[in-house]
Amino acid sequence: MNAGNLKGIICNNSFDTFTDNPYYCAPMSTTRLPKTVEPYRLAASGEHLEGSVTLSAMPRIVDVIGRQEVECHVVMTFDLDEQRQHYIEGSLAADVEMPCQRCLQPMPVHLESTFLLGMVTSDALAATLPARYEPVLVEDEHLDLLPVVEDELLLTLPQVVYHDEADCAVSRDSLQSGDEAEQETPARADNPFSVLRSLKDH
Ligand SMILES: [Zn+2]
Repeated sequence: MNAGNLKGIICNNSFDTFTDNPYYCAPMSTTRLPKTVEPYRLAASGEHLEGSVTLSAMPRIVDVIGRQEVECHVVMTFDLDEQRQHYIEGSLAADVEMPCQRCLQPMPVHLESTFLLGMVTSDALAATLPARYEPVLVEDEHLDLLPVVEDELLLTLPQVVYHDEADCAVSRDSLQSGDEAEQETPARADNPFSVLRSLKDH
């Protein structure tokens, strides 16, 4: 055996080790979250998903905050707990604009939340879930992720937002000339309350 061969073997070995390493992660990229997954299969192998969803693809969000070309970043881990309950543990984050309830001008709002979903195959089984889980219904082994993210995002939306007084057009104008400020406020039909209220009724 000469030095050249030896070197080749070492290189091959380290290459194999590198590609087989289950903990090797590709550099983070802005991939799309898959539309549909097989959550039981993902949980069985403890899979981790990370990607983004466009807010304008979620009609119930658009109803509340209007159409915004904003990405929601989502991370999900699929796993089983010690009672063999399949679950999804996740987090999401998005930067949107919502109308200030004092001046009705849009203002930046950072949305962020975590969630813990217990997979069930029927509504009846949802009642048997431990309290720490929100139920998520999985039919035919498949789950559409978009409505799941949308539900969580709706729960995360604040009911009302206000500018800091120093940044708010109404607060500023009321210090100067009271009445004129009201004529400048745009009419906005969007009502963040209506959707939240209908959510609670379910
Ligand atoms: Zn304001």
